[in-house]
Amino acid sequence: MSTIFYLDLKIFILTKPIGKAASYPLTQYLFPKAVKKRNLFSTLSCFFNQPMLILIYSGMGDKMKTVIMGAGAMGSLFGGLLTLSGEEVWLTDIWKDHIDTIRSKGLTMEKRGKTQTIHVNATTDAAPLGKADLVLIFVKTYHTEKAVSDALVLQDENTVFLTLQNGLGNEETICKQVGRKKVVLGVTGQGATLLGPGHIRHAGWGKTYLGELDGRVTDRVNQIARIFQKAGIETGVSSHIHDLVWEKLFVNAGLNALAAITGLKNGEILDHPEALRLLEALVSETVEVAKRKGIQIETSAIERVKAVIEATRENRCSMGQDLDRKRRTEIDAINGAIVREADKFGIPVPYNQMITDLIKVVEKRFHQG
Ligand code: NAD
Repeated sequence: MSTIFYLDLKIFILTKPIGKAASYPLTQYLFPKAVKKRNLFSTLSCFFNQPMLILIYSGMGDKMKTVIMGAGAMGSLFGGLLTLSGEEVWLTDIWKDHIDTIRSKGLTMEKRGKTQTIHVNATTDAAPLGKADLVLIFVKTYHTEKAVSDALVLQDENTVFLTLQNGLGNEETICKQVGRKKVVLGVTGQGATLLGPGHIRHAGWGKTYLGELDGRVTDRVNQIARIFQKAGIETGVSSHIHDLVWEKLFVNAGLNALAAITGLKNGEILDHPEALRLLEALVSETVEVAKRKGIQIETSAIERVKAVIEATRENRCSMGQDLDRKRRTEIDAINGAIVREADKFGIPVPYNQMITDLIKVVEKRFHQG
């Protein structure tokens, strides 16, 4: 964190980044140039103009203008937390009732039995927002292409497009439209549920990881991690982000469709020997495909998947919630994507093929009946 020391007859110690300190009337009065330009050089020029002042500025502020494409459960969660921490954030969603509610009443967030209202900027149209430093894609995977094309107006040469969505294929879909250099990949253990227009529940607190596609640890990734941390979203930077994407895929591929189709809660999968057998088969197939792709798998994937399921024993997974509400699922980006990847290597994945087909049959029934 930047620290500013101001010595006169009195000593002022401001322990906020200059971006934040700039909003204090005293700072505006004493350092008008620094406030205007918010950079080291103007801060120093203040110092030379006023010899009684000693000013030490140890770094640039971390503020970023963030636009979130998809303000459902997760987009609203990240948008709400970032807004509370003082970031400039815009939620963008095509769901008008939801956006109207957030604009008129604020975002209602339930967390561990408590409810708070957060006033977040929200819109149905990204076009007038101007350039963004960070575009965070949080739509369901089957809407990624359209959401990214709607967000193209937000980019300049330095804009970063970050996806924390589940499954495979988001990276490629985003890269196709904005180029690989602008894309950062991540996974998140945070969880949220959409309860109604303008209303979410914060339901999971796992760690978030970010990484460059080429594995470099860059300033921009560190900066995003810092603003997330400041917002209370525990975040790490990884030089092997694809390994972590697959690690999460092992859980989603083993659990989601199986729990969705059987109607079971997460933990109940472990209690039924037949369901457990299917889970192990789905994960084993996925591990084989991952190995052929060169993904590093350090410990037993099956055991880790079981540990995650045990830790979320009482939850109904998101694909289960989608089927329960007769909504389209992300099957194509999870088990369906494993089938496509396996085909490239000629590896048979009959369990993943079967569960994909079963989910698709159920989805089709929604449209017919
Ligand atoms: P969600 O359905 O709650 O929200 C998606 C939102 O995107 C919807 O409100 C929808 O109206 C909006 N949308 C669709 N097209 C759009 C467009 N063109 N522009 C703007 N908005 C558009 O979904 P979610 O649960 O928040 O999940 C989002 C992603 O995050 C998924 O890939 C999911 O797998 C992943 N994820 C979810 C959780 C969780 O706990 N919910 C946890 C980790 C990862």
